[in-house]
Amino acid sequence: LVAREGHPAGSVIDIRGIKLGGKQVQVIAGPCSVETQEQMDLAAAGVAAAGCRMMRGGAFKPRTSPYAFQGLGVQGLEFFQKAARQHDMPIVTELMDVRMLNTFLEHDVDVIQIGARNMQNFDLLKEVGRVNKPVILKRGLSATISEWLMAAEYIAAGGNNNIILCERGIRTFETAYRNVLDVTAIPVLKKETHLPVLVDPSHAGGKAWMVPALARAAVAAGADGLLVEMHPNPCEAWCDADQALTPQELIDLMGSLRLIAQAV
Ligand code: PEP
Ligand code: MN
Repeated sequence: LVAREGHPAGSVIDIRGIKLGGKQVQVIAGPCSVETQEQMDLAAAGVAAAGCRMMRGGAFKPRTSPYAFQGLGVQGLEFFQKAARQHDMPIVTELMDVRMLNTFLEHDVDVIQIGARNMQNFDLLKEVGRVNKPVILKRGLSATISEWLMAAEYIAAGGNNNIILCERGIRTFETAYRNVLDVTAIPVLKKETHLPVLVDPSHAGGKAWMVPALARAAVAAGADGLLVEMHPNPCEAWCDADQALTPQELIDLMGSLRLIAQAV
């Protein structure tokens, strides 16, 4: 179902009127995690000021350590919606557990993110396959493209074709950065599937200063959009502080992307 064959034009996913996979490169930005109402209000203002039309933010966080901040949960969804609504921006947030799916629907989450660690959580994939919401499926930490596409197939098999793939870097022997951004995957995915392709340069590089270069590489290689971490005050971020752009850096990034793709 996700194969390119029979879909010469490629799929365009409609997210409350915003098109992902169309001519415009969409940049979804926001903090790694939802922290406070004030932080989300400032973040939303920064995302909108940079010209981005959708916002990201995690209320349920898949942390490596069980002792690290795990996200605000449902209260985070509320802070997030309140902030994003003021700028009429759809929200993208991670679903980790099938038991929270109804809560996500009740809170009008616009795009459900399936994180890298859950790419092969098949029960979760089956459940999001049954709803009519756009789903961002991140690539697993060490997943091959064919494993990733089979995971997407689980969602499509349930009847939900609103699937967006997100390359976020894969495991590497290299220690100079967090993950290696697989730019090569972009043309492969565009050739093999009709699904829109997003790239997350933040979790790939793991350092804010690397993000603009990786983001430009992704857009130049044909990505349909980006998922970027931005925090109103990165030094104080509760999660992934090293890789968060400042609001001004997001504005600068958007300017540099416009030199590569006319529609950003
Ligand atoms: C995230 O986007 O917040 C995240 C946890 O990313 P990943 O699943 O790619 O590690
Ligand atoms: Mn993060």
